[in-house]
Parts: sequence; C-alpha cells; structure tokens
Amino acid sequence: MTDATAPEAPLLRIDTLTKTFGGFVALDNINVEIRKGERFGLIGPNGSGKTTLVNCISGALRPNRGAVLFAGEDITPLPPNLRSHRGIARSFQIPRPFRSMTVLENLMVALDFAAHGHLFETEQHRREAAMVILNRIGLAAKAFTPTTTLTQVELRKMELARAMATGPKLLISDEAMAGLSASEVDEVLDLLMSLCGEDIAIIMIEHIMQAVMRFSERVMCLDAGKIIAIGAPGEVMSNPRVQEAYLGT
Ligand code: ADP
Ligand code: MG
Repeated sequence: MTDATAPEAPLLRIDTLTKTFGGFVALDNINVEIRKGERFGLIGPNGSGKTTLVNCISGALRPNRGAVLFAGEDITPLPPNLRSHRGIARSFQIPRPFRSMTVLENLMVALDFAAHGHLFETEQHRREAAMVILNRIGLAAKAFTPTTTLTQVELRKMELARAMATGPKLLISDEAMAGLSASEVDEVLDLLMSLCGEDIAIIMIEHIMQAVMRFSERVMCLDAGKIIAIGAPGEVMSNPRVQEAYLGT
C-alpha cells in the first residue's frame, strides 16, 4: 500500500523512563507510545508503578532518567499546570469537589482554572460552556444540585466533567471506578468510550478486569516497575507472566 502522508507523531511517548525513590526502583526503563484517541488499559498488581507512571505523565513527579513527549514535544521539564494547558488531564481516585457549590458552579471553577480567566467574555459564556460539558457527561439534570447530595457514580461523572473542562487530548483515569456497582461501571465505561470517539486518548487504570477488557484497545501490564506484557487485551490477560504477577499478590 502506498500512503503519501507521513505517520503522525504519537500523542504520548514515554522514552526510557526510570523513577526511583531513594534506592527503590519504582519504574525501570519504561518505553511506550500512545496514539491519538487510543483506549489504553494500564494494569498491574498493587505497588507495580501504575500511579507513579501517571504522576510522571501529569508532572506531579519528575523521572530520574528518560523523557515524556506529548504531541512530539518534550514536556519532561514542565510543571503540572502547563501540562494541563497542553491537554493532559487526570481524574482522581477520590473525587474532591468544592462541597459548598452546585455541580454547575464546580464546573465553572474548573473552566476558570483551565482558561486562566482569559477565555470567557461573560459569565453567561462561561455558564454555557459548563452546561455543554455537563450535557456531554450526562449530568445536565444535576446542574443546580449541591455536590453534597450527589451519589457515588454522579461524583465520578462530575470528576470526569471537571477533567473535560481543561479540553484534554489525553485523559488519565486512575481507579475511578472503585466502589461502583457493575451497572455503574458499565455506565462510566460507556461515557469514557464516547469521549475517545471525540479523539481524546484515555489511559485507564482499573482493577476490574472485565472493565479493562471491555474498554481497552491495548493493555499494558506493569510488575515491579517493568512492562511485562503489552498488546491486545485478550493476549495480555492470558500471558503466563501476567497471570503469575496477579497470583503473587
Ligand atoms: P500502583 O499504583 O501500581 O499500586 P505506585 O506507583 O503507587 O503503585 O507505587 C509503586 C511503588 O513505589 C510502591 O512500592 C510504592 O510504595 C512506591 N512509591 C510510590 N510513591 C512513593 C513515594 N512518594 N515515596 C516512596 N515510595 C513511593
Ligand atoms: Mg495506584
């Protein structure tokens, strides 16, 4: 096949990345690329380095060696807020809304943070932008509800809405489904999959294997800071090294 267009740079490239804490090697020479709009599952037993990798991508931690490239540019020296402005968003395990506000007000704060006050000419514009996101996330009906009365699944959705306010190209979800029922997990998965359809790549860290299998185009498994398997979900799950890593915990 002939294709005149040059292959696009990957959205995210982790290049020979190593992170240590004192003498402990939490991530050992990690190399991986994630493409635009990809649904990427990240698995591994507790303590295998998943959150540390997320922290190196978001900028919360600096690697000892190696680099993080985003849309072809080396972002390794950038602090988290500048990475967020470039399109890296992270949804936290523990939702932490401003509890005295409504869902809409929470989102308006997130929009302000994302735009540093430059983007919206009027309060009305900002309010409309917030409503667009709430519609996309399926929370519009709760716009005027105080966050204190939201259910667990609604809180997770609001956390996603706040991440969406930054206009991400890469969204990282670190165990955002813990404690949800099976049907709620499916609901959040459907939501995440619809976001990927809009060209947002998602790295999903999840212990619920059914969810990882259903969601991911590719899965990567870490064990003790090393990549032990990467590829199609079925292949990775049936890999003896992966099964061994999980049996060991
Ligand atoms: P996971 O998210 O896969 O459960 P983590 O990335 O949180 O694993 O942790 C990987 C390893 O690094 C663990 O052994 C953990 O104790 C260690 N670790 C993580 N953060 C720190 C830190 N700030 N200081 C020291 N050790 C840490
Ligand atoms: Mg973790």
